[in-house]
Amino acid sequence: MSSPATSNETIYLDYNATTPCDPRVVEEMLPYFTADFANPSSGTHSPGRRAADVLERARERVAGLVSANPRDVVFTSGATESNNLALYGVARAALANGDGRRRIITSLTEHKAVLEPCRELAQAGFDVQYVPVDRTGIVDLEALEHLLTPETLLVSIQAANSEVGTVQPLAEITEMTQEAGAFFHCDATQAVGRVPLEWQRLPIDLLAFSSHKMYGPKGAGALIARRAIRQGRLNPLTRGGGQEANLRAGTQNVPAIVGFGAACHILGTEGASEAERFSVLRDAFETELRQRLPDIAFNGHPIQRLPNTSSVTVRGVEADALLANLPHLALSLGSACNSGALEPSYVLLALGLAREDAEATFRLSIGRWTTSQGFGVATEEVAQAATRLRQLAEVE
Ligand SMILES: *Cc1c(COP(=O)(O)O)cnc(C)c1O
Repeated sequence: MSSPATSNETIYLDYNATTPCDPRVVEEMLPYFTADFANPSSGTHSPGRRAADVLERARERVAGLVSANPRDVVFTSGATESNNLALYGVARAALANGDGRRRIITSLTEHKAVLEPCRELAQAGFDVQYVPVDRTGIVDLEALEHLLTPETLLVSIQAANSEVGTVQPLAEITEMTQEAGAFFHCDATQAVGRVPLEWQRLPIDLLAFSSHKMYGPKGAGALIARRAIRQGRLNPLTRGGGQEANLRAGTQNVPAIVGFGAACHILGTEGASEAERFSVLRDAFETELRQRLPDIAFNGHPIQRLPNTSSVTVRGVEADALLANLPHLALSLGSACNSGALEPSYVLLALGLAREDAEATFRLSIGRWTTSQGFGVATEEVAQAATRLRQLAEVE
């Protein structure tokens, strides 16, 4: 297979920020830009009806990956929009329906696409509560239990964290939320296809994920909204033509959605075995660094963790200096969304890392085109650069 992620001189190790499109995905998308361009809402002619069929086939593939009913899939532009739709949609429906519950519970390590809507909802009068996490990033279930009152409308907890990889105990969280009669929304962007979650058994009311984190194109995502919620408990953010069962007006991005469907199909057949390969590579990387560098730490839960992710603290070495010394490795400091500004990652701080340890932390995330050879080169370079920077620090 061609290797899109290493086509230039860079070794790409930032798959949690985004992934390249699988060439098989691109292949399936191409006709829908030109020959098969019709609007799926154009039911009056056969090209339009064909586009609608294609959309439904993609819907079945996306639903299939998470054992959902295709009717419950709302196509969006990505996980940011899916999270916004879940949070604002439930909040607005509650306001419109005279549902008096105002409490929303989330965690301190959520993606900004959850935290920012929650912040605005708090300003609008919702009672937003944050569950703390422990040193490994797992939410404090006892604290959650205490926060879950009859006033609770919605709980929003991610499946897996993009920075440290910690996978939350979703079965427990789902059960607790259901017992309290609240809706449960889960941002599963990092977990879908990578973590064998028993989706089918879990009554997760709302589930968000994104095409470009799973080798599909940017600009497509899904919110799985189970029927109970769709029956008037979730309001749309956009109104217009009534697409997506009136939950997301606007002409669907057919080529991107076709690609998203193809990406889901591939992940359904290859995801488990590639996850196994990632964890072997990732564990070898961590073992090697541990042997070479004294006083380093790996963040996140040691076991309940994404197989492809390593969050590394090299004490005494600032991560931005380390990355500057590794110009042809594509690594990241905090999550991609905050690394514009050099603020220590709020996720690492929520785990209880000291500020200087957070600043000495980088994230590596591997994926479909990470080869053991390329990754071996990267491991060696990280170890050498960290050793060199530590020696320089001692000399000063
Ligand atoms: C990437 C990511 C998002 C945002 O997804 P987009 O499709 O880029 O909007 C949300 N949540 C998590 C956990 C992510 O990793």
